[in-house]
Amino acid sequence: MPADRLATMTESLIREMTRIAIAHDAINLSQGFPDFPTPAALKQAAVDAILGDHNQYAVTWGSRALREAIAAKLGAWYNLDVDAERHVTITVGVTEAIVVTLMALINPGDEVVIIEPFHENFYPAVVFAGGTPVFVPLEPPAFRLDADRLRAAFGPRTRAIILNTPHNPTGRVFSREELQIVADLCQEFDTIAVTDEIYEHILYDGRQHIPLATLPGMAERTVTCGGLSKTYAITGWRLAYTVAPASISNAIRTVHDFTTICAPTPLQEAAVTAIHFPPEYYAQLQADYHVRRDKMMGILADTGFGAAPPQGAYYVMADFGGVGFPGDDDHAFALWLTKEVGVAVVPGSSFYRTPGMGRGLVRFAFPKKLATLDAAHDRLKAGLPKARALSTTT
Ligand code: PLP
Repeated sequence: MPADRLATMTESLIREMTRIAIAHDAINLSQGFPDFPTPAALKQAAVDAILGDHNQYAVTWGSRALREAIAAKLGAWYNLDVDAERHVTITVGVTEAIVVTLMALINPGDEVVIIEPFHENFYPAVVFAGGTPVFVPLEPPAFRLDADRLRAAFGPRTRAIILNTPHNPTGRVFSREELQIVADLCQEFDTIAVTDEIYEHILYDGRQHIPLATLPGMAERTVTCGGLSKTYAITGWRLAYTVAPASISNAIRTVHDFTTICAPTPLQEAAVTAIHFPPEYYAQLQADYHVRRDKMMGILADTGFGAAPPQGAYYVMADFGGVGFPGDDDHAFALWLTKEVGVAVVPGSSFYRTPGMGRGLVRFAFPKKLATLDAAHDRLKAGLPKARALSTTT
């Protein structure tokens, strides 16, 4: 029998949708990984690192060259004062970063605030650490952080809050005012903020990323989790990092050491090349994502979905009320769309734990070649009219 802690957990729905997509030969707009190539310089750097015999365990908290490159980058981009030796730990993805951070900080009975909708990893991470999740839903279509609702979730047992910006799945980039609400509550209730900033470089319409740790008083109570998966199209390399005050870093390193020992050594070496990419790389990344986002929004408008353009990240939560499908059951619609239309998406309610939230919504992921998005457009145009036929027969 599985352990009790798994009782409230289901298999990752996103990976399940991917499996269903493969079984039905559907275009997979459910899982957030690029279908375009990784930059050639990075592939070469990985080959060079292996041939150069960087093949044994790295220092537990990460290759020094990579930690130094990350510390320098955070200084240059955000004016953060980061010491590679004391503050930076390289992890096996942000997924591990969040889990080991919570394992390092949470005692049984401690509460952890999770803003809904949320990336599927957050809830298991809190449960694995023995914490109690407290959910604060964001309401569609604006998905703004409500100060009163957030305050109501804080109390004497609130040990941590997980904040993801730019946000998956809504595409929100939280404003400085919204971040200040979080910062004020963290300081009032002596709470640690654990941020997930994996989409820091995927921003639209001139928006800027503001790390929570840059707000006054927050560097000493924030664990900043950043990742390389999305920025450099290397989701399979499994590289990310935490930046935290020295005492918290030490705790994180202990858990990390006994969980994974270290992230893959040759890929850490190769990732130094990525962190040293010039500013033009990030400008091009944003330009390319603008084109993808605008194409995705055009496809949704053309096929009857309702959605606000994302401000960052590469997802859009779309309302399917206008496509003619009977009812608002997002699971039924996502399955039907995958099997009958050939385009895989994720049901909106799977990003919430609060019952009823997310119905009527599905998430499209668009880190894809334009040809992939065009093919999805063709399938939606051809297949969605069948939804109207369904409505009239049921
Ligand atoms: N955090 C968020 C918000 C994500 O959307 C994802 C992947 O989709 C991850 C973390 C996973 O990151 P990693 O590949 O670094 O484990």
